[in-house]
This record gives sequence, structure tokens and C-alpha cells, in this order.
Amino acid sequence: MTKRRVYLDHSATTPVDPRVASAMARAVVETFGNASSVHGFGQQARAAIDRARREVAALIGAKQNEIVFTSGGTEANNLALKGVTGYHPPSRVLYGVTDHPCVMEASEALKAVGWGVEPIAVDRDGIVRFEALAAQLERGPVRLVSVMRANNETGVIQDVKRIATMAHAADALMHVDAVQAAGKIPVDFVAWDCDLLSISSHKINGPKGIGALAVKSHVELAPQLHGGPQERGMRGGTENVPAIVGFGTAAEIAMHELAQRAAHMRALRDRVEAGLRGLPGIEVFAQKSERVPNTVQFALHGYDGEALLMQLDRKGFAVSSGSACASGKGEPSHVLIGMGIDRDTAKGAIRVSLGKDNTEPEVDQFLAALGSLAQQPAMAGAE
Ligand code: PLP
Repeated sequence: MTKRRVYLDHSATTPVDPRVASAMARAVVETFGNASSVHGFGQQARAAIDRARREVAALIGAKQNEIVFTSGGTEANNLALKGVTGYHPPSRVLYGVTDHPCVMEASEALKAVGWGVEPIAVDRDGIVRFEALAAQLERGPVRLVSVMRANNETGVIQDVKRIATMAHAADALMHVDAVQAAGKIPVDFVAWDCDLLSISSHKINGPKGIGALAVKSHVELAPQLHGGPQERGMRGGTENVPAIVGFGTAAEIAMHELAQRAAHMRALRDRVEAGLRGLPGIEVFAQKSERVPNTVQFALHGYDGEALLMQLDRKGFAVSSGSACASGKGEPSHVLIGMGIDRDTAKGAIRVSLGKDNTEPEVDQFLAALGSLAQQPAMAGAE
């Protein structure tokens, strides 16, 4: 008998939707032309890209010509940070202290070319400290404020519209990393009034290696990949048509199924949380904050998150001990540390992130497995 495997790590990545896979398979075979070619093969590829661009734009409330396809969320965030600072004399960049490493590291890298780079503090619930941000904005010129809409570990949702208003009042641009928001909650490039916004295909049941940066027309962006005129000169290189088609299809499906998916994931997440309440020494992080409907991050006091994760994996349950990028380093999550959680508690962190295809029996089996592990004294006290 094959081993039961339950995937509860959708914030790391999602399985490709079969409808996306078939659209991609068709594109691989049929749409092989170079979209820059003037002949029919090229125009067929161009049409496929244009359609995907419309679908991706629709998911986030952007205009088609505001979308720049990239190799994923990491590149979109790098392009935002390096692109808006690239043509400007150094001033300052502010980023959320719980933001994804690709935002933090891209920001920190700007120090080498003379930029002042400052994290924006959050409170114990993971929410940006608005007074601290206001003080930072008053202290001198800021070129860009970058804050994520939804956190990849805790699921905490930031009021990015309020932050954008503060940034604009200080003459700064606003970038939102919406990688973990898309497909789970509505994303609105217009209503949020931000200047740049990043999303990634593999978080919405699309393929890996493709994402997008939405850029408003007034933003001057220094390209990071010079080459041909692709992506309006903002990102050179022959387009990966099957990946773009897959991303577009995933975006279209996500848009139509958003409400239903969100309700389904929320019900499962609430079931996880209700089950967790029955375990001794449980702390659910940022429980008081508004969060995306699929994510719950918690710690079992006295237990090591990495060890628990491996035991759960042996039992057939795939969860994460923080973000996929941070796990394996043996360091507690920078997100929890940023929220002021002590290191020992943070080391116990486990993230469960649900997907559209998870079921109630899977959640119940997971809770039973966790419950039995939590009763094993051998698991306790691991550091
Ligand atoms: N931003 C956030 C909030 C993420 O969670 C991730 C990936 O986990 C990224 C950016 C990077 O996206 P990608 O994996 O497409 O490079």
C-alpha cells in the first residue's frame, strides 16, 4: 500500500492545477514561436502572452500594460527595489521587518550603492507600527516603502492602503509584495493606491519560475535585465510562453474561484485552530490579527519545530517550520523574532498552510498525528 501523504504546505508552493497543466502542455507543443517574430508563429505566441497578461492583470485589478512578467516573486521584488532606486541619487528605502527575505536582502544590498535602508517595526501581532513608520518618514527623504500584503509565515494582513497613503504624503513610492495574498484574498492594485505590486504563479496553482511586477505608468524603473524590447524594455529575454500561459490560466481560475476557495480554506483553518486548542502549551501566532484564510502558525511550548516537522513528515504530513526559505538554517524565524516572540518559542514554530484541495478528514488526521506526537516525552525539550 502506498503511504498516505497529506500536503499542508501551500504557502511554500501549490500543486499545479490540472487545467493549468493542460493549457501549458498545449502551449509547449503548439505555441513555440518567438513572440518577437513577425510571422504567424511569432504572432501566435504574442497573442498567447497578451491573453495571459490580461488574465494576470484582471486578478490584481491592474491594466494589461502595467504587467511585467518576471521569473517569479523574487525577481519581481528585486526589480521593484533595484528598479526604482536605480536611476536615483541615493536616499532611503524602508521595508517591513517581517517581509520576505527577497525584499529584505534586495533592500540591504542597496546599502552597497549608498542607500540608507531601514526596517519598519511591527507589533506582537505582526502589524506595522504606524507611529514608528511616520517617524521614519519624517526623518528625511524616502524613495520607496515596501511592505507585504500577507505574511508567508503568520498570514498577517497589512493595511497597505494606509501605508501607501503615508508613503505618498512623504513623496515616497509604495511597493506591495502580494505574493501570499493573491489567490487567497482580493488584490486591488488601484484601491491599494500602490505604485508597484509583486505576485508569483506557483503560489496560485500555476507553474514555478514565473511571476509579475505590476508597475504604474508614472514609475521610472531601471531594468535589471538589459536586452531586447520584451516587457516594454523593463525585462529583456525571450518570453517563456508555456509558463506565461500557465500563469495566466492559474490567475483566471483563481479569480473565478476566489470566494469559494477562501471560504473552504477558512473553514479548514478554523478546524485546525479548534483542534490545536485541545493541545497543552499551544500558542497560535498573530491570532488576533486579520490573516489570510489558509495559514496558521503555532508553537508547542518545549518542542522543537524542525524536529516536529520531521516526525510529521515521517507520518505523511507535509508542513513547514516557518518559511521554506528560512527552514533548515536552524535559526528561528525572523518574522517571529521581528514580532518580539522569544527565541525558544520561535524555535517551536510550525506553519500549516491549506490549499483549495485539502479536506476535513486530512485536517483531522493531521490533528490526530500532532496530538500523538505531543504526548511523546522524547519530543519535548529538543533544542
Ligand atoms: N514574497 C513572498 C511573501 C513569498 O512568500 C515568496 C515565496 O515564498 C516570495 C516573495 C518569492 O516568490 P518566488 O518563490 O516566486 O520567487
